[in-house]
Amino acid sequence: MDYSKICETYKKLEETTKGLEKTEILANFLNKIRENSEFIYLVQGKLFADYDNRELGISHQLIIKAIARAAGVGEEAVINEFKELGDLGKAAEVFLGKTKKQKGLFEEKLSAEKVMRNLRKLVEIEGTGAVDLKIGYVVDLLLSATDEEAKYIVRTVLGDLKIGVGPGILRDAIVVSCFKPKDIEDKKVCVKAVQEAYDKATDFAEVFERACKDELEKIKLIPGKPLKVMLFPKATSIEDAFRIVGRPAAFEYKYDGFRVMVNKSQDGEIKVFTRALENVTRQFPEIVEIAESNISGNNFILDCEAVGFDAKTNEYTDFQAVSQRIKRKYGIDEMRKSLPIELVIFDIVYLNENNLIKTTFLERRKIIEKIVREEDKKIILARQIITSDEKEVEKFYKKALDDSQEGLMGKNLDAPYKPGARIGYAVKLKPEDNDFDLVITGAEWGTGKRAGWLTSYDISCRGNHGELLGIGKVSTGLKELREEGLSFGEMTDKLEKIMLKSEGRHIEVKPEIVISVQFQNIQKSPTNSSGFALRFPRILRLRPDRGVEDITTIEEIEKEITQ
Ligand code: AMP
Repeated sequence: MDYSKICETYKKLEETTKGLEKTEILANFLNKIRENSEFIYLVQGKLFADYDNRELGISHQLIIKAIARAAGVGEEAVINEFKELGDLGKAAEVFLGKTKKQKGLFEEKLSAEKVMRNLRKLVEIEGTGAVDLKIGYVVDLLLSATDEEAKYIVRTVLGDLKIGVGPGILRDAIVVSCFKPKDIEDKKVCVKAVQEAYDKATDFAEVFERACKDELEKIKLIPGKPLKVMLFPKATSIEDAFRIVGRPAAFEYKYDGFRVMVNKSQDGEIKVFTRALENVTRQFPEIVEIAESNISGNNFILDCEAVGFDAKTNEYTDFQAVSQRIKRKYGIDEMRKSLPIELVIFDIVYLNENNLIKTTFLERRKIIEKIVREEDKKIILARQIITSDEKEVEKFYKKALDDSQEGLMGKNLDAPYKPGARIGYAVKLKPEDNDFDLVITGAEWGTGKRAGWLTSYDISCRGNHGELLGIGKVSTGLKELREEGLSFGEMTDKLEKIMLKSEGRHIEVKPEIVISVQFQNIQKSPTNSSGFALRFPRILRLRPDRGVEDITTIEEIEKEITQ
């Protein structure tokens, strides 16, 4: 397929902000790639399925070098154009347009296959000379591209196509392309089916292929491949929790760690994923060891919380301390000693070739009781009581808080496991819960004492189609000194690495840093695209375990207001 066909779709998508129009454009595109379902990754701005987090490893600097080399100009010129246009993709378009015209270089058409092939090669290249080789592959593509194609190649490499396609729109487009629903009710049923299939497969190419053949039910859970975790709404009181999950119910400690899915695949390999589908196996060798020694089963998928504790006092620490380990690539052994974790198992979705999604929670708990050999400060089952008595829950709730945990989870005993869904099969109960997980989309340089740091951050929630909606700015909660915790300096380092555009004192960044933001209340705000603003927002912590798809949705915010 000509890459220009894909670029035509990008262009159309870029030209509209309307969700329905985007869905239509994408559905037409999908009709054309039925034989090549992997091209769906290209409209996601990716090269692999969502569960696959291999990275291209190309920084802004490298892309600048590649554009300069392809266009035969100095890097300085590219940097200046980038500053002017605020988009390296557009800078590539300008330079390559000029060179091509000069050299009359329009021979062969660039194919989408070649774009995928070359970009996928970038992932494999390592070791000495890797940088040059990587640049070489990008230059090769840029030289075979038209100016417009060059723009989108550069944006793909940087992981930001700027075409406003989120997973919700892609899902809807699959529905339109494959099922052609007759009416709204029919559409709802199809959307649900495609969403459920995606939550199991976490791969739009597979879902699209199956949907084309009307065989979504054939999508199987495969241990070793991450799936979307089940999510939990909030209960406002113990009574409310019982109302949602029924009586009797199970109540468990809500541990203050981070979610991991521990997988053992058919070949016996253990893999650990975060809820953002990130593979963190390397960062947590002790989880692999303990899963091998203390969990029986040829293959499984377990839903767990990794909770940090102080190696000296044995007391649980909060999430913030242990969260540093999630993104760490080096010094893993030292980290393991200084910030140990205990693995708390609270659910299971697969065991020995059996999909347990439809099995009741009570049964699933019995299974984990059988297969897990508990060992203090290594691996335990979530502490649990089963009761109908509010007083008993209250006592347990206090105990959880005294034990430095966040609160309780109330769970419906008869409920199945629903990957990806936030339905009331279980609820969370925490004392003070006015915080949202939001993503940073931009930032502003500080002045005076704070000059040199990015000190004010634009924050967004997620819209109904996966798009990002602004909900204002936050500038408090960070420290000035790095030793005191999350500091302006640390945040500035992180944001500069993912800068997409710079204009005066403001920069735009790739939406990937998720933070928990506490606030006093929510107000209506016509100036923010979400329609809301947070009063007295304050950054609580970074959430490296969460991706942009896990952030608070507009629906949840609306619900919060009506409560
Ligand atoms: P929240 O992060 O506030 O949305 O609360 C839900 C999170 O609590 C889940 O994603 C888990 O990471 C965590 N959690 C801690 N303990 C449990 C438990 N016993 N059952 C389920 N989730 C738990």
